[in-house]
Amino acid sequence: MREGERMRPETKAIALGRPRDPGDGVNAPVSFSSTYRAGGDRTYARDVNPTWEAFEEVIGALEGGLALSFASGLAAVSAVVETLPAGTVVVAPGDAYNGTRRLLSDLASRGRIELRLIDQCDLDGVAASLDGAGLLWLESPTNPLMAIADLTALAELGHTRGALVAADNTFATPMLQHPLELGVDVVVHSATKLIAGHSDVVMGATVTNSDELQVALARRRSLHGAIPGPMEVFLALRGLRTLPIRVERASASAGELAARLASHASVDIVRFPGLSSHPQRALVERQMSGPGAMVSFEVKGTAAQAEAVCAAVRLIVHATSLGGVETSIERRGRWEGEGHLPQSLLRLSVGLEAVDDIWDDLDQALLAAAG
Ligand SMILES: *Cc1c(COP(=O)(O)O)cnc(C)c1O
Repeated sequence: MREGERMRPETKAIALGRPRDPGDGVNAPVSFSSTYRAGGDRTYARDVNPTWEAFEEVIGALEGGLALSFASGLAAVSAVVETLPAGTVVVAPGDAYNGTRRLLSDLASRGRIELRLIDQCDLDGVAASLDGAGLLWLESPTNPLMAIADLTALAELGHTRGALVAADNTFATPMLQHPLELGVDVVVHSATKLIAGHSDVVMGATVTNSDELQVALARRRSLHGAIPGPMEVFLALRGLRTLPIRVERASASAGELAARLASHASVDIVRFPGLSSHPQRALVERQMSGPGAMVSFEVKGTAAQAEAVCAAVRLIVHATSLGGVETSIERRGRWEGEGHLPQSLLRLSVGLEAVDDIWDDLDQALLAAAG
């Protein structure tokens, strides 16, 4: 049994990843060493760092597998793809996170992979695209359309066709969803978001329950050098300690805000896994233990009107990225490569402020933009 397997998640987040000997600090030290004295297990800090090990113990225990820290979420995505041979067919959702799609398209344009974009909600369509595939990429919920992938069914489908199955669990976090338990081979995180949770770090992680894949990913990390700095990992671990309570609070506030937005005169469609109007509500209830902190909604009117909402917020931060303690908002359609999104769609990352203060700000901004 791995360390802490019997603990509940809230306890794992607090109790694991700490030195244990008498006289040790209660926190793992930030290990600023590029090399280690010869003769021990550790050799060079592109391969190993004790601060990484502390973070990896916690996130690994929460997801139920073996973890590795990476320099960013995209470095973790890259490492997974790079374990596969040249020319591998990669099947991925057409509404996956913009950066993932840009990375995969870039690799495809240079002949490194063959890319097939799918709708991961259409199981028959996915099945038809899996011929000869080496990797099935999933993301659930998707950023920012909040589409849910049936991880159990898709993992099985991928495996029967001989593909490795990866899932981006950034939006759900291990507090709400466990892809490895549902049959997925490797989970990827942008730890930049909810895991670190304070908008002060860029970092990523992989978690797998395959020893073989863990070795292959660690090799990619060492050879490509996409390693996080020890200070970043310390901050991410510090954030991870409060992930359970932050996700609980942010999800509750997000639920409240989503419900109020759904009946707001200036709002068209609210996309939130916790609303009964979510088109995959039954799957959400089967697969997730909570709705998460992210709410996407369409403002009635044009892109300019949605931008006006972002310009009018005072408490809420108008910025890209998500998952911080502060509530933030942006119109995703302002980015290149997001042409498939409704142009008035706003993505709200719900933070930990008093929910009524967040609402008052949203409401005044919606009214101001409606002019
Ligand atoms: C931000 C994000 C990433 C990329 O992570 P970085 O840390 O920015 O490299 C990957 N997937 C999702 C769902 C994200 O939101």
